Amino acid sequence: MTIATPARKEAVVELKAKDLNGNGGVFCPSPQAGMKLWNSHPRVFLDVASTGEARCAYCGTVYKLAAGEHFGGGH
Ligand SMILES: [Zn+2]
Repeated sequence: MTIATPARKEAVVELKAKDLNGNGGVFCPSPQAGMKLWNSHPRVFLDVASTGEARCAYCGTVYKLAAGEHFGGGH
């Protein structure tokens, strides 16, 4: 009998530019990712704006800027 090992699921959360905070990033866990208590972890800041995406080292969730969204263009 073989017990299948579930692949680790990595959620990808698309963000609008307005979802980023003043520093161009987000905190994880995030309400936008639909975080549950069981996979929460210490709050970390992820810099999304500099590369367009960031991966949380704790839970593997990838936060990326949605296509066509640009941070800090004009205001
Ligand atoms: Zn996380």
